[in-house]
Formats: sequence, C-alpha cells, structure tokens
Amino acid sequence: MSSTVGKVIRCKAAVAWEAGKPLVIEEVEVAPPQAMEVRVKIVVTALCHTDVYFWEAKGQTPVFPRIFGHEAAGIVESVGEGVTELKPGDHVLPVFTGECKECRHCKSEESNMCDLLRINTDRGVMLNDGKSRFSINGKPIYHFVGTSTFSQYSVIHVGCLAKINPAAPMDKVCILSCGVSTGLGATLNVAKPPKGSTVAIFGLGAVGLSAAEGARIAGASRIIGVDLNPKRFDEAKKFGVTEFVNPKDHHKPVQEVLAEMTDGGVDRSIECTGSVNAMISAFECVHDGWGVAVLVGVPNKDDAFKTHPMNFLNEKTLKGTFFGNYKPRTDLPNVVEMYMRKELKLEKFITHEVRLSEINKAFDYMLKGESLRCIIRMDG
Ligand code: NAD
Ligand code: ZN
Repeated sequence: MSSTVGKVIRCKAAVAWEAGKPLVIEEVEVAPPQAMEVRVKIVVTALCHTDVYFWEAKGQTPVFPRIFGHEAAGIVESVGEGVTELKPGDHVLPVFTGECKECRHCKSEESNMCDLLRINTDRGVMLNDGKSRFSINGKPIYHFVGTSTFSQYSVIHVGCLAKINPAAPMDKVCILSCGVSTGLGATLNVAKPPKGSTVAIFGLGAVGLSAAEGARIAGASRIIGVDLNPKRFDEAKKFGVTEFVNPKDHHKPVQEVLAEMTDGGVDRSIECTGSVNAMISAFECVHDGWGVAVLVGVPNKDDAFKTHPMNFLNEKTLKGTFFGNYKPRTDLPNVVEMYMRKELKLEKFITHEVRLSEINKAFDYMLKGESLRCIIRMDG
C-alpha cells in the first residue's frame, strides 16, 4: 500500500484565481478521500470548450479560485470508506456527470441523467461534507464538475469514475471522458443511422467530428458536414465526411439545400453547434416519414426552438441527448474497448500536446480555434 494513503498529498495544480486570467501552477494540498470518494493520480488531461466557457465565466455564477479540467485519465491512489468497486492501481476515466446506480435514472435503461451525480457547474465542493478537498495554506480551492483534473491528484466521487482496461493508452482514451463520447453516442445510441444511410452533421468541432466518426462506424454511405467556417472542412475529410455545405454560400435556408442534395432530406442529422438556427435547420432537413434529428449543442439561455408542427405530423422525429446517452460507469469501459479493437480512431482528434507547466498554451490553441484536442501531460 502506498505511503500516501490517509495523508494529505502536496502536488502541482493549475489554479484559476480569477475569471479569464491565465492559470497559475501552484502547490496544492489534496485531502484524503472521504466516504464514497476516490483520490486519483491524474496522468493526462485534455482541454474542452466547457472548461474555457466556465473559466471565462461570462453569464454564469463565478466560482473562484477553482481547479478546472474534466477530460482525463488517471490511476486510483486510495479509496474512501464504502468504495468497493475500485482499488489502488485501477485505471479510470473521470466523468463530469455520474452514475450512482441507485436512483430512478440509473435504474432505467433509457436514462443516463443520474439524480445524485448529474452535472452541477455551480457546485465547487464535495457532496459528502459540502467542503473542498483542495487547499493552499488552509484556504479552500474549489472543484469543477466533480472532476478538477488540472491537478496531479484529485478527489472524485466513485460514481463519476469509469474503470477501464489498464492496457488502454491513457494519452488517447482520456478524450473519451467528455466530448468524443458525446458525439459518438449521439450517433450510435440516439440517431442510430441504418447502414447505407445519409447523415448530416451540423458543426465540425470535436463533438461533430465524433458524431461523424459514429456515422462512419455505423456504415453511413454519405456524411454531409455543415459548418460556417470553411477551415473546418479540411480536417473533417480525415473523419470520413464526404460532402460539405457552408450555409453562407447559399441564398436559401440550408435545410432546402440539403433536401435538394438528398432527394427530399437526410435520413439522420446531428446538431453539434449550440446555435438555435442550426438546431432548427438540423430538424427541418431530415426526410419525412423516417428522418431523425438529434440535438447535442448547448443553446443560449434565452433561445427558443420554432418550427411548424406539420413537420412532426409528417413523421420527422426530434431528439436530444446528454453525454451521448452513455452511462459513465456502465458504458465507457466498452467505448474504450471499441478503441482497443481499432473500431474507433482517437489519434486524429489529438492535434496538440503540452506539459502541465504550459497549460495556458492549450487555452491559446483552443481560443484561436487551432486545436481539436490538446492533451496535457501532468508529470511536468
Ligand atoms: P466547437 O466550437 O469546436 O464546434 C462548433 C462548430 O459549429 C464550429 O466549427 C462552428 O463554426 C460551427 N457552427 C456554429 N454555428 C453554426 C451554424 N449556425 N451552422 C453551422 N455550423 C455552425 O464546439 P464542440 O466542442 O465541438 O461542441 C459542440 C457543441 O456541443 C457545443 O454547444 C457544446 O457545448 C456541446 N456539448 C454538448 C454536450 C451534451 O452532452 N449535450 C456535451 C459536450 C458538448
Ligand atoms: Zn443515479
């Protein structure tokens, strides 16, 4: 057993002291895990838009100082009371939303929206005692979505940790802990395109390209990428996107352009933009009779979705999904196995790599729109 069990660990973490200000590498104290908690050595983490969004704190409740980070892979260092499913040495993916396995959602085959551990972006403390496990000279540093992976050690609820194959390379599968699983699951679990079908993907960021990867795996014959930024099209070719539409190149609504290209509409569409206009287009562009549209993007607070109800009578279906409908603990280990069997490709998502000391560079790459995923190695 490691000599750190039951003791405070001092390690490096990237602390956000204030909204929008560069992160500062600090020595933090990480308390031992309490009941149903696990202390994890974070080996590699990645930067996702959600971290940047809450770091900028425009319009949300600011919770600072805070340790961001939620896409990661690590190794269990020690476990708290009541934790039976994990032991020191296990490899895990932390997830921003959890699976308690006890609530109505966890017991339902149809839902992954756990009552106890569903994402809460305002909470900066642990559920057990309402306190943070991170501190600097006794002053608490807050958690982020229960994961806080920009620290060499983090304390995480056992329900937010998926135990994975220890042979899986952590610097690849870390990106399955958020964006890639979201897009992949939106296609494979929710849109479910039949083999040979035509799929439109709105928004070709990491989430949309993961949805495209899902369409490729499902055997779609045409994958049409829709984006306002033509720079995204080159990258998207590597993800099996076969045709491109830029709504700005057309004088009519993009749903009409897509209907003309596909003899009446696409079989499936997946919206990964967060723009309510793209959501409406993604719904209206599906074929009547069988078309299914899936919304993934997170809209603005005051957005409203407007469409003619006749579209529903014409048998177009609209769905939405949270985290690709995956249950973190039950399903993520199987997604890791898809990568291990080489069915799912992850390398092409990882465009940049930095060390913890250079974490602000990862923010720059994302803010300039240069990176799909920048991974951050935590050992230096
Ligand atoms: P991203 O910013 O990298 O990509 C979005 C893309 O959409 C960009 O390329 C942009 O040019 C394009 N776009 C914007 N408006 C458009 C429009 N009207 N028409 C066509 N293209 C348009 O973002 P990402 O990281 O890939 O995430 C995509 C969305 O998924 C975000 O809204 C994010 O918040 C959301 N998300 C949802 C979940 C979930 O569980 N539902 C999980 C993670 C992320
Ligand atoms: Zn639950």
